[in-house]
Amino acid sequence: MGTILDGKAIAARLHDALTREVAALRGCPRLAILWFETPSSALYRKAQCRQAASLGIAITDASFPTDVEPDAVEARILEWNRDPKIHGMFVHQPMPAQINPQRISALIDPAKDIEGIHPQNSARRFFAKARIGSCTALAVMELIEATGMPLEGKDAVVVGHSEIVGRPVSMLLLDKLATTTICHIATTHLEQHVHRADVLVVAVGKPQLIKGAWIKPGAIVIDVGINVVGGRVVGDVEFEAARQRAAFISPVPGGVGPVTVMMVMKNTVEAYKLQQQGGAAA
Ligand code: NAD
Repeated sequence: MGTILDGKAIAARLHDALTREVAALRGCPRLAILWFETPSSALYRKAQCRQAASLGIAITDASFPTDVEPDAVEARILEWNRDPKIHGMFVHQPMPAQINPQRISALIDPAKDIEGIHPQNSARRFFAKARIGSCTALAVMELIEATGMPLEGKDAVVVGHSEIVGRPVSMLLLDKLATTTICHIATTHLEQHVHRADVLVVAVGKPQLIKGAWIKPGAIVIDVGINVVGGRVVGDVEFEAARQRAAFISPVPGGVGPVTVMMVMKNTVEAYKLQQQGGAAA
């Protein structure tokens, strides 16, 4: 039976360290959250606001109905770019169909881009020495680090190639010298790729896509997927069956999610510090 990677416990440790860091700052970092009025976005915003409050990070937020005109969203981002009291910006996804995510990403001031989605930052993947970038990818790496297993020379397989999760997590695995394969919607023989993985990261959004029987015995399995099935939140991996074979596995909920929220806060603090130094991304 694999050990469950407890995202809440890892998030609590990060919370303690970040609380001390924020308390030592001279000013107050401020995170701006832009979200669209859907139940899942409202829940996520609530979690972000709760964590920010407990850390001493200020929040400015703007909510828009899902039929908002793109101009209104773009105007708000430009206003936040000009506001020196705002240090980080987080735009909730998915965005409504009439909003072009690439356009939004390109509008955000790169220095306030705590998710690494501005083209200038996403090309570099993670910017500045502090390595600001995809909060979810950083959370995945925290969970893997908690296993204590070195990544060098291991076979890592990432299922999903999105800009916000699959690609950045692949880059971080490569940085650790894992031999990294990226699978996606057009991948044939997904089972064979998964079966080779010493480290498997799944970020697709399809419940039960990854069968427990596919998991390599002793693997580390990180499930990023969030799906609602019959009123329950589940990931992309057949959890119980996969746990029989894995050495470590992250649950959904309670795995990647809580750590990602903490990474949003950590990146906001890092962006704040860079702006105080008067520095852009280095
Ligand atoms: P996305 O829709 O942008 O990308 C999905 C990816 O899955 C694509 O790369 C696609 O090629 C791939 N894919 C689709 N069907 C596939 C198949 N049958 N086989 C292999 N690959 C397939 O999604 P995203 O934004 O990357 O999010 C992925 C999942 O992670 C979603 O469930 C999302 O809710 C969740 N998520 C969780 C967190 C968190 O903090 N826990 C953060 C972001 C996203």
